[in-house]
Amino acid sequence: MAETVTVRPLPASQVESWDYEADVVVVGYGIAGACAAIEARRAGADVLVLERTGGWGGAAAMSGGFIYLGGGTALQRKLGFEDTPENMEKFLTAALGPGVDKDKIHDYCQGSVEHFDWLVAQGVPFKEEFWGEPGYEPPADQGLMYSGGENAAPFNAIADPAPRGHLAWTKDKKLGEKGGGYMLMEPLAETADELGVRHEYDVRLRRLIIDEDGRVVGVSATRYGKPVNVRAERGVVLATGSFAYRHEMVEQFAPKIHGRPAATVEEHDGIGIRVAQALGADLAHMDATEVALVADPQVVVRGILVNGRGQRFITEDTYPGRMGQAVLQDQDNQAYLIIDEEALEEAFTTRSSMSFLRIAPTWVAENVAELETEMGLPANTLQSTIDLYNHHATNGEDPYLNKKPQWVKPIGSPLGAYDLRGYTGGFTLGGLRTDLDSRVLHVDGEPIPGLYAAGRVTSGICTGGYASGCSLGDGSFYGRRAGVAAAKN
Ligand SMILES: Cc1cc2nc3c(=O)[nH]c(=O)nc-3n(C[C@H](O)[C@H](O)[C@H](O)COP(=O)(O)OP(=O)(O)OC[C@H]3O[C@@H](n4cnc5c(N)ncnc54)[C@H](O)[C@@H]3O)c2cc1C
Repeated sequence: MAETVTVRPLPASQVESWDYEADVVVVGYGIAGACAAIEARRAGADVLVLERTGGWGGAAAMSGGFIYLGGGTALQRKLGFEDTPENMEKFLTAALGPGVDKDKIHDYCQGSVEHFDWLVAQGVPFKEEFWGEPGYEPPADQGLMYSGGENAAPFNAIADPAPRGHLAWTKDKKLGEKGGGYMLMEPLAETADELGVRHEYDVRLRRLIIDEDGRVVGVSATRYGKPVNVRAERGVVLATGSFAYRHEMVEQFAPKIHGRPAATVEEHDGIGIRVAQALGADLAHMDATEVALVADPQVVVRGILVNGRGQRFITEDTYPGRMGQAVLQDQDNQAYLIIDEEALEEAFTTRSSMSFLRIAPTWVAENVAELETEMGLPANTLQSTIDLYNHHATNGEDPYLNKKPQWVKPIGSPLGAYDLRGYTGGFTLGGLRTDLDSRVLHVDGEPIPGLYAAGRVTSGICTGGYASGCSLGDGSFYGRRAGVAAAKN
């Protein structure tokens, strides 16, 4: 679809006057923008953040607040978990691929311990308590959990399992209220204020401004519909988030997630990607998506997940986001959860952040044959799946998909099934190709002078897979890099 408002760069020669000036101009005041602003200021630059909405926060402040860190962080060590950067790298390379940027993964793992310490130094609190149950988030304010399937097959045989989902501490956490993401963002925004980072709200990036050599020297924006021109002496950092809410781009690059944005905000309209593309910026992994399966992991782990043909396809004790990706990407968005009455009753007594999803199964039956008919599956499909599962489950084993013995029990009767077809949603992970200094790369491989980017406007450490915390993780990590690099320009 043709643009009604151009994203092509504006020549600086056409700018009559500058409304604001700074050494480094950061666009977007979410996690990547906040970290870029802090580090650019500390590196000696005068910094101005432009934010489209009325305040800092972005998706980050609404998020669960998981930040994926490891390699032996102070919190991991305090809670008795051993980890090394090399072990973390083995896991991330396997779990976030295929096609990961190996240099980025290596760099991120090597810097992860320092990054945790940095967050703490900015005032981000982490509670020294571990939550070891399946789930998307801990039910209360615990500070550490497995958030990527590290302790489940196949990854528990690839790298030593270590929990790396670090959560900013939300005291008296209540579902639907300020969560970990807010607790992460608030101290960062306060730190930026204390350092003297300036901000202008309700200012919306429209185009980049370039000089006669093609160098980015500013931002053309609007405020309440009126033009605002902002001069950047040293560099512009794009931190405007993903393209999950730009439907044309989703249709073009990641069609499977079209119409199902989740864990994102409407401001993620791909603008940062488009203005950089208009300068020749390269893109990476535009088809990659984070996907959540909308079901309570405490229920899922006690049942079996089957596809539209009644067959199992993923171990039910893994990271639920991995299940979501598998359902959407590989199973045509078709999934059912089968669970017997006894296991369901047990699940309903456990603590979970997803307990609001505890509703009655879609179908209930006295035996598997009856359930299979009610679900409309071909005869003997579900029955043979459950026969096979129960055959090994009697010995507490699951050689088919290697679910851990603690979760393996034969499926009895009566039993039921949840219809999870289409119960997925998520956000896009692809974006601008950047180097380890967060410089935006042209399609010819060279950095575009004066242009930096971090967060979901870029392709970060995730390509095919995802682990909770990777988005706030690489957004904050490479946000810092962008700030330092732009300030030194
Ligand atoms: C409910 C929920 C739960 C989540 N849980 C987690 C989690 O636990 N762990 C995790 O890693 N991720 C999580 N995420 C995803 C994560 O929050 C985002 O992927 C992350 O915040 C991306 O960082 P960012 O800096 O790129 O974008 P953001 O944090 O969204 O910041 C982008 C900012 O840019 C601004 N902006 C956009 N366009 C313009 C423009 N034209 N001009 C000026 N400003 C603009 C936006 O308003 C926004 O403030 C969750 C998201 C949600 C909504």
